[in-house]
Amino acid sequence: MSLQSSALARVKPSATIAVSAKARALAAAGRDIIGLGAGEPDFDTPDNIKQAAIDAIHRGETKYTDADGMPELKKAIVAKFARENGLTYEVSQIHVASGGKPVIYNALLATLNPGDEVLIPAPYWVSYPDMTLLAGGEPVFVTGEEKDGFKLRPEVLEAAITPRTKWLILNSPSNPTGAAYTRAELEALAEVLRRHPQVWILTDDMYEHLTFDDFEYTTIAQVAPDLYDRTLTVNGVSKAYAMTGWRIGYAGGPKALIDLMRKVASQTTSNPSSVSQWAAVEALNGTQDFLKPRNDAFQARRDLVVSMLNQASGIRCPNPEGAFYVYPSIEGLIGKTTPSGVVIDGDDTFTTELLEAEGVAVVQGSAFGLSPYFRVSYATSEAVLEEACTRIQRFAASLK
Ligand code: PLP
Repeated sequence: MSLQSSALARVKPSATIAVSAKARALAAAGRDIIGLGAGEPDFDTPDNIKQAAIDAIHRGETKYTDADGMPELKKAIVAKFARENGLTYEVSQIHVASGGKPVIYNALLATLNPGDEVLIPAPYWVSYPDMTLLAGGEPVFVTGEEKDGFKLRPEVLEAAITPRTKWLILNSPSNPTGAAYTRAELEALAEVLRRHPQVWILTDDMYEHLTFDDFEYTTIAQVAPDLYDRTLTVNGVSKAYAMTGWRIGYAGGPKALIDLMRKVASQTTSNPSSVSQWAAVEALNGTQDFLKPRNDAFQARRDLVVSMLNQASGIRCPNPEGAFYVYPSIEGLIGKTTPSGVVIDGDDTFTTELLEAEGVAVVQGSAFGLSPYFRVSYATSEAVLEEACTRIQRFAASLK
């Protein structure tokens, strides 16, 4: 009898975590490695947030809270949704878990039956398909082409919806492409969704605060209030507030769905860390002053990376609206050969050979469902990015 369950056998380990682990192992073995694989800000958690956690410990806030988050944090989340998104939720419509990842998983686990389909726009964040599989559903991929900024077109969405479609997952700005949907683009998708009342919408707004060039951020329940009753709006403090290790994510949605998600949490994880919840209260209620300078730093990094990668021979790098990723094409390098005689037959080989030759760790596009591309996370200093892009240029130039 196999040790592994058949549910888990459907799942593969996270490719992005695998790239980071490989880069760390090479660095530990003495290689000069630049890791552009990880999806987390290099900035530190702001001091006021750290202090709120320290104060919470000293006050003795160290006990269980409600399984899906304490009222003080839910109130701060209700205020955030009202202030920043024009969305009205009651405290009873909020779910808090140990990161955005478990929030999404709790929603899928609470709602999917075998055979239920989840529409996942590709390129996608690596976890959506595997979380869907683990929860018993079937991922169905709908591709956003590079010429459309990697965004899902309404007619592609329309063609993919079946009577079994339970969820559409939206992610704007996107991991891995950085693409963000405009109000008009969301409105066009909403028009399709109106015709299919059985489809629920999970919007993953994790990178909301990371948009550039005066992009006007909107989320679908705000753009299409008539879809509010079947939309789960997911967000969290990990990316905007540089709190990846604290593990707090949250969502607002219809009470019936939130009740089901609480049922999952109550029998599995119980509450996310009480101390982290108090830190998240301060993140949401405290000063937001550091967001702008950090965004400016990310925009300067994006500009640097896009410009330098577009100067690499055979690489074409679109200029995304947000997040801290770019998703360049290596179409122009397919079929070329490395100095050591390896033929670049796709993005898996490209990223492996790049790491081998120049010590730059990036993630292959195949992990995100669209080839031949690779993902660069530029959440690191300009000096490091400049060196990394110089190495990528040198590697591309070495291919014949
Ligand atoms: N959603 C997207 C699109 C992400 O990129 C990530 C993290 O990489 C998450 C959700 C998960 O965030 P968290 O670390 O809060 O679980």
